[in-house]
Amino acid sequence: MANIIDGNKIARDIRDEVRRRVLTMKEQKGLVPGLAVILVGDDPASKIYVGKKAQDCAEVGFLSRECRLPAETSEDALLNIIRELNSDPLIQGILVQLPVPKHINPEKILETIDPRKDVDGFHPYNVGRLVAGNPCHRPCTPSGILEMLDRSGIDLTGKEAVVVGRSNIVGKPMALMLLARNATVTICHTRTRDLAVVTKRADVLIAAAGRAQMIKGNMVKDGVIVVDVGMNRLPSGKLVGDVDFAEVSPKASYITTVPGGVGPMTRAMLMKNTLNAALMAS
Ligand code: NDP
Repeated sequence: MANIIDGNKIARDIRDEVRRRVLTMKEQKGLVPGLAVILVGDDPASKIYVGKKAQDCAEVGFLSRECRLPAETSEDALLNIIRELNSDPLIQGILVQLPVPKHINPEKILETIDPRKDVDGFHPYNVGRLVAGNPCHRPCTPSGILEMLDRSGIDLTGKEAVVVGRSNIVGKPMALMLLARNATVTICHTRTRDLAVVTKRADVLIAAAGRAQMIKGNMVKDGVIVVDVGMNRLPSGKLVGDVDFAEVSPKASYITTVPGGVGPMTRAMLMKNTLNAALMAS
């Protein structure tokens, strides 16, 4: 039976570590890290995410600033708010909750955030540093996955790692981080000819396609380490991952669950990135 990698517990550990570092910073330097989260519009899921980020900030002792803006906010107005936050000494992390309304160009928004305050790791400068093997802020979901693997004692060197999905926020940065850890990496996507042939080779399989339970038992080999990034809502309302847990877990040596796996890690890594930004600025 597979070992379950408990994302809730590891995320709690990370928040606890961050909280302790914040206390020390406060005592020794009188500094408190500050995170600003900007939400444009009233997408219900985004509202929930922003609320949870504020909760996390409170738990670790950060200053948290929420900027909730109406959906009709102009691109220029949003850019000006970001520029103000760029020069605000109380704020070391800035995050714009995506997606933004259609009339706003998300690339322009991300490129306006000071790369030193880009705690999501999406600015082209931070993407470039990751590609060059000299990372600064790294995207939270894949860096959270690395933490889960590290804290489970899994050495990636020489392993066949397969990433299903090539998005800029998960698949691509995940592949780069696995490569940096000396795994042999394959990235799959919708044009991959025979997905099962590739996934069966995997010692480590990262499923980030956003397709409910698409990874079946006959697509993996015995002993595989499986990380399920997917968050898919079934018609019944149940939240499931991209991995058919009932079929895959009996073959896996390690596996994450949905919920309780990657999701809490993404949030915890945002706290860690913000702490790092504050340490770099101090
Ligand atoms: P995107 O939709 O941006 O990317 C999905 C990727 O998966 C694409 O590259 C796509 O290929 C590929 N893909 C889709 N279907 C298949 C298939 N049948 N076979 C092979 N590849 C496929 O999604 P994200 O990367 O943003 O997110 C992926 C999933 O992870 C979603 O369920 C999302 O909700 C979840 N997520 C979870 C997070 C967490 O914290 N737990 C954080 C971020 C995302 P192509 O490029 O060819 O279209």
